[in-house]
Amino acid sequence: MNVAQLLGDKGHDVVTIQPDRSLAEAARILSARRIGAVVVTEADGGLAGILSERDIIRALGESGAAALESPVSRAMTAKVVTCRSETSIDELMEMMTSGRFRHVPILDNGRIAGIVSIGDVVKHRVAEIEAESRAMRDYIAMA
Ligand code: AMP
Repeated sequence: MNVAQLLGDKGHDVVTIQPDRSLAEAARILSARRIGAVVVTEADGGLAGILSERDIIRALGESGAAALESPVSRAMTAKVVTCRSETSIDELMEMMTSGRFRHVPILDNGRIAGIVSIGDVVKHRVAEIEAESRAMRDYIAMA
């Protein structure tokens, strides 16, 4: 199983924000869309960074409520780890575990083609394990 198949199930929608928008606006988007991270894009759609709820919490912890007025560019991670549609789910899990983050944007030919969260990966793994155990039960019942 690879990222392309996972995206086939969940869709290619990516919620983005521009680097000069405020953290308050980013927080509103995360809350309204019920997501944990937004991809930060330049006006031309190029990848500029990623901003997760943790970045907003860190800024609030360091600067208090005033941080909400600061730009996304100040709190985001600019060095984004990305994967491609062909990346396997095992490889993706390894990237998330070793990098200690829960979101990975997918870049195909330099264009943002989707985003996968740890929740998507866990959902996929649970479905896979359930299918395996069902197959095993059927096999035993037939024996
Ligand atoms: P998360 O666990 O995804 O909420 O993110 C934890 C931290 O890692 C935050 O500082 C994020 O900006 C950063 N982060 C999230 N996803 C990535 C990624 N794909 N590449 C690099 N940093 C990331």
